[in-house]
Amino acid sequence: MTKEKSEDEILLIKLCKGLMEICDRINRGEPAYLVNDYQPFPQPLYEAFEKLSLRWILRDGVMRHSSILNLVEAARNSVQAVEADFSELVDFPDQPLLEEMTRASEECEEYASEYSLSLEIDNNQSYIPRLMNEIKKFNLPHSTYTIFRRFIAENPFPSELDLALLRSQNPEIERVKEFLGEAHQDAPPQSDAMPLCKTCGGYLDCAAREIEGCCEPLDRRVEKVPIPDTVICLIRPSLIELRLNKKFEEMGLEVELWPNLDQADLKITFPNQEVWAIDAKDWGSATKLARELNQDTIPNIGQSKSFFVVPDYRFNKLKYQAIFASKYTGKIPLISESEIIKRVKRNLK
Ligand SMILES: [Zn+2]
Repeated sequence: MTKEKSEDEILLIKLCKGLMEICDRINRGEPAYLVNDYQPFPQPLYEAFEKLSLRWILRDGVMRHSSILNLVEAARNSVQAVEADFSELVDFPDQPLLEEMTRASEECEEYASEYSLSLEIDNNQSYIPRLMNEIKKFNLPHSTYTIFRRFIAENPFPSELDLALLRSQNPEIERVKEFLGEAHQDAPPQSDAMPLCKTCGGYLDCAAREIEGCCEPLDRRVEKVPIPDTVICLIRPSLIELRLNKKFEEMGLEVELWPNLDQADLKITFPNQEVWAIDAKDWGSATKLARELNQDTIPNIGQSKSFFVVPDYRFNKLKYQAIFASKYTGKIPLISESEIIKRVKRNLK
């Protein structure tokens, strides 16, 4: 699933991850950089900056930006402003990584999520790849992952009682319970000016990201909230998957979410035992989606058909479709959420 990344890609991912962390600090009402700390900036941003600085010195003999704040400012304007070669990675140099100096863009968030899902494997940091490794290592049933992920996606603010119920109803969770603790953190200050989203548990910037079914302000006090990695890598991407799961179950199909440790998002089995595999992607950037899917495939889980599915509200935008079509070279068809439902219905008849 994880493919080799070029040095430039890693640099960009670290930059985005660092920017996301800075934005999160600001959202929480904390200073963007910790003046008296030995490490004032988030580690990934520091690493990205170090790499860029070295390049500038090697190339120009001088530092181009003397402080990391200039880098952040440069990222706001465009990646191109930082380094021309680097902008080839981002096909829209006019698409900034930060928007209005207030929040990370969708593009930025998508790159940052790659940091949590793959780059951190080496550093053993993010709990998501570690959870998968633990399940493999101890030969736990693959359903452990599904139960874990579904609980987190459906319970952004779990109470002690929710957690106790989960564990008593699913004894297989016991072995990986420490990861459950890592998915959440103590609630940050909540205010009317900066409310949390009821559905995804992030600060309410999902509205600007147009995430369907998201973006209603939370109107109660909570003790635990999902960490940013949980919001961007687990909860937000799961919304379309849970929607489709519900729909297919209502149609009487046998559905499995994230089968074989996430080899697909959904595996549906028709009454005649025919199997379809679906990967659903709710991504704001059609460029990044095409680039990713060009290298992606759905492994064999017994399916006769595979589909990539995008929510209607993204797919129906002509610009989104046109950008995707011009960059996608893969074989698996990309269709809209309502189209997959239509095709499943037709196949049921
Ligand atoms: Zn939300």
